[in-house]
Amino acid sequence: MPARVELFGVEIDRLRMEEAVAQIQAWVADSADRCHFVVTPNVDHVVMLQHHAGLQASYRDAGMVLVDGAPVLWASRLLHRRGNDLPERVAGSDLVPALFDSAEESKPLTVFILGAAPGVAERATANIRRQWPGVEVVGTYSPPLGFERDERENELILNKIAAAKPDILIVGLGAPKQELWVHKHRNQLRAKVALCVGATIDFLAGERSRAPVWMRSVGLEWVYRVASEPRRLAARYAKDAVVFPRLLAREWWRLRNPVRS
Ligand code: UDP
Repeated sequence: MPARVELFGVEIDRLRMEEAVAQIQAWVADSADRCHFVVTPNVDHVVMLQHHAGLQASYRDAGMVLVDGAPVLWASRLLHRRGNDLPERVAGSDLVPALFDSAEESKPLTVFILGAAPGVAERATANIRRQWPGVEVVGTYSPPLGFERDERENELILNKIAAAKPDILIVGLGAPKQELWVHKHRNQLRAKVALCVGATIDFLAGERSRAPVWMRSVGLEWVYRVASEPRRLAARYAKDAVVFPRLLAREWWRLRNPVRS
């Protein structure tokens, strides 16, 4: 695997989208009976990671850590020399369609969709069928509220996944729930790869809309998301807007004043 870059105490893979897709394909083709999982940090994850031991542990064991948030990518460019920074944004919501694009009808990529509100995964499935003939959805499940604390419910989910044996498990439970759940159950997950990708299921279903391409290309997707869900996201983003610049300043200072041994 290519090197990772350390930012704010988080190790992030220096991978382009096509390299991330190739790595996932390699894991799918691997006959080993283990589940690799992928996390996609944005500013909010970085802020949470400063004090959340469970999330830190999940990140430590992740097979790939891909930069989702444009401000995190910008920070890598500001703090590290060219060549040591992150090459491009690899957002979870772009990774899933890119992976689906790479699937071939002659050897379908099997997918289990876990998360989102009832009915959403089924609508996502219908859209996937229409758009990607190389992708076969082999199961969906929308867990009830509080499922993560219910052992029987967890067992039920693990059994459903084991029965479907998907190549890819798409997990959209919001952060940090999805990263904690996948980490806790990683040894029981009978999928080749689990992708912790937030609202991607909603996007696939057409339940929520992505920011226009021009906003994404200039790194303003987060502005679009706050504007479309102000009640849920305003407080979170306000906190991040205060904490993240502080973390950036601290990191800038640390990198320029390394502790000498
Ligand atoms: N979600 C879920 N179960 C939960 C909590 C959230 O299925 O217990 C789903 C929710 O329906 C949505 C997604 O998780 O589809 C949240 O994605 P988003 O990236 O917006 O969450 P965030 O990480 O921003 O909180």
